[in-house]
Amino acid sequence: MSATPLPLPVPPPRAPESGRDALIACESLVRIYQSGSVEVQALQGLDLVVERGELVAVVGVSGSGKSTLLSILAGLDVPTAGRARVDRWDLLAMSRAERVHYRRHTVGFVRQQTASNLVPYLTAREMVDLPMVTARTPARTRRARTAELLASLGVADCAGRRPAQLSGGQQMRVAIAVALANEPRVLLADEPTGELDTATSAEVFGVLRDVNRRLGVTVVVVTHDPAVSGQVERTVAIRDGRTSSEVLRRTATNDAGETHVVAEEYAVMDRAGRVQVPRDYREALALTRRVRLALEADHVTIRPDRGRPG
Ligand code: ADP
Ligand code: MG
Repeated sequence: MSATPLPLPVPPPRAPESGRDALIACESLVRIYQSGSVEVQALQGLDLVVERGELVAVVGVSGSGKSTLLSILAGLDVPTAGRARVDRWDLLAMSRAERVHYRRHTVGFVRQQTASNLVPYLTAREMVDLPMVTARTPARTRRARTAELLASLGVADCAGRRPAQLSGGQQMRVAIAVALANEPRVLLADEPTGELDTATSAEVFGVLRDVNRRLGVTVVVVTHDPAVSGQVERTVAIRDGRTSSEVLRRTATNDAGETHVVAEEYAVMDRAGRVQVPRDYREALALTRRVRLALEADHVTIRPDRGRPG
């Protein structure tokens, strides 16, 4: 709240540092794991803003901090420093009771291993029912909601089956239905397609898009698969526990009336003004340690430092 807005020549298309009306706002998020005498910095100043109604993919290699980020957003883990807000909840300052309420009603979480989301001896119907029983929802409402959810996720015919009697794609659909049982505003999915083949992965992304559009649930999905950026409108890249770049995809119409998808890459600037220039850009122009920066009327240029001796 103490931030003084910097004077900008032209307002940017999206201002991640504001995020006041956003559903999810993480700022300079840090999570340090202490194991014995060793410290692991899983998140090292991550910034992330997700607007209400968005479907965002967070992409990064294994170990980049994706699961750590989702556990924090799911209210299962607490950051070491920084700020994290989801809806009206401050994730660093919640009481125990608030945390229970938050986990039950604000977020739905699909865990990394499909099996860990499901109970082997329960049917799909019973699994969707369970979170509502915990939330003390009346039986009639529960029955109606379970039927509605299984139907809208395309697994109505699986209601009486147990996990072992479901395909990988069906298991994931049921896991998503379970996560949505208490009508959360946010659905978090940790590598939901990690154990699925390409066709089933695309199908699951179709389901997530559908949940996002038809049910109005904000969706954050993390994955190590860079190919998913083709499946969502916004992809945020995470590297070494920091957000480094974003790709926005939108549909544009040309003069002939044909529509096509435009993908635009954005770098993420942190509060101190640090920006990571993508490697292929650096290599293309041999940008190394020192570069020339110039402020133009509506943009900034970065040029190789040709004046360098050698
Ligand atoms: P990702 O999901 O992107 O693969 P994680 O968030 O699981 O990454 O892990 C980020 C880093 O934090 C890794 O170096 C990992 O080894 C470490 N880490 C994750 N959880 C723990 C933990 N409970 N204790 C110690 N280190 C951890
Ligand atoms: Mg992970």
